[in-house]
Amino acid sequence: MKPQKITRIAIANRGEVAVRIIKACEEMGIETVLLHSEVDMGTRAYRMATKTICIGPAPTSESYLNIQANIDGALAGGAQAVHPGFGFLSENADFAQACMDAGLIFIGPSPKATRTLGDKVNCKALAQKLGLPLVPGYQGANQELKHLIHEAERIGFPCIVKAAAGGGGRGMKVLRTKEEAGELIESAQREAQSAFGSAQVFLEKYLDRAKHIEFQIFGDASGKVHNLFDRECSVQRRHQKIIEEAISPSLTPETRKKMGEAACLIAESAGYQGAGTVEFLYQDGEFYLLEVNTRLQVEHPVTEMVVGVDLVKAQILTAQGEPVFNSKNPMIPRGHSIECRLYAENPYLGGVPSTGVLGKVEWPEGPGRRYEYGFEEGDEITSFYDPMIAKVIVWDETRPRAIQKMIRVLKDSVVFGVHTNIPYLIEILSHPEFVSGEMTTRFIEKHFSEPLQVQVLTEQEKQIAEEVAKQLAPTAAENRIISETSPFQTFWRGI
Ligand code: ADP
Repeated sequence: MKPQKITRIAIANRGEVAVRIIKACEEMGIETVLLHSEVDMGTRAYRMATKTICIGPAPTSESYLNIQANIDGALAGGAQAVHPGFGFLSENADFAQACMDAGLIFIGPSPKATRTLGDKVNCKALAQKLGLPLVPGYQGANQELKHLIHEAERIGFPCIVKAAAGGGGRGMKVLRTKEEAGELIESAQREAQSAFGSAQVFLEKYLDRAKHIEFQIFGDASGKVHNLFDRECSVQRRHQKIIEEAISPSLTPETRKKMGEAACLIAESAGYQGAGTVEFLYQDGEFYLLEVNTRLQVEHPVTEMVVGVDLVKAQILTAQGEPVFNSKNPMIPRGHSIECRLYAENPYLGGVPSTGVLGKVEWPEGPGRRYEYGFEEGDEITSFYDPMIAKVIVWDETRPRAIQKMIRVLKDSVVFGVHTNIPYLIEILSHPEFVSGEMTTRFIEKHFSEPLQVQVLTEQEKQIAEEVAKQLAPTAAENRIISETSPFQTFWRGI
């Protein structure tokens, strides 16, 4: 492909990933067009983009998931390329195709590669052909309930039913006995239909002491796929990641090498270009390919920190047809990096989402700290979208030091206006099983299934908290009433 310099990129996304892309573009001298919904007008990405175009109202189906609205917006904004970020249309092959048909460069893999790898059932078929290890299961076309129950029995309980078109942990249920299988399969089918527009499901053996380990791969413009090493994402709630780290504390060098080779093999055989992630489950020294995510991943910064790359810039350079990463100079991961996803939710009420206008926000400076945030003071956190408001990333020379640093950074971080999961994250990071690195994907279910206990404050502590809250945020004091469950009051700031 002849290199083609991109001068303006449309961003079909919002929040912190939109900001992340804008920053990479700014550094590369590329202009940006933010394609945003009505409620996202005025948020941080909106303020930063060169141009902004409103593509529809708040509901995602009318804006961020509307292919035509995004294409029209990109064209109206004079963009040559579209970056889809993650989530929304990022893994939608029809969107990639629509971009190409409209003469826009889609910053991501080809529609064909996305159809091969992004579809869980197709991906498994290719993995099988390549002789890669898969969790035993059933991916057949017969979707009759009786047949699915029969297949679940053949696989053996516990097993897991998943939406073929699924993602983000939705449409997934663990089946523990034959008696409950029918009801749970039907409920997964209903959920799959409403969330993904297809009721097709498949079954897998449920591995109940597995770790989630994934490999960042990158297909460059020449067709070579690079191995950018692994991340461990075993800390999950309802199958969704909360804390990620690079590299995994659990792999031997031999297993790491084998998994990396498997990841590159499947990507290369699908003609994969750009950033992608090959996910595995790892149990008792064996690994099993789970799925491939054909896009940039939320947790990409931990790889960037240990490998020393900029994945978003690499995506843009690849879309321009330019070379990235020097194969003669093999990448070696250095030190340890951890990312925590900061959610606007109340950990004292079991994580119920917390909405409102953000008050004072403070991210403490220091070596080896990185903040990816999409919202600042005055921005509204609404119930229309994912409650992730920021990511906190740290790097240090060893894993114990990275954990120590993350706890300190979280204690010093300040977010007013909404509740956050900061106290919950600190508890997780301090838990002996996390510290030992032995946690499995059932870690949260085992140790953190109950809401956090609220700390009881003395009268003097309450007074100090109230006074500081007033001084820091006098304008929206009514939003920040010091209640028993206020994050401020419960000392997550490490007073
Ligand atoms: P999604 O695309 O919705 O993220 P995945 O297939 O990637 O779904 O699985 C998400 C998480 O669900 C995994 O990281 C793991 O914790 C759990 N999971 C999925 N399949 C299995 C399985 N067969 N056994 C045990 N846990 C599983």
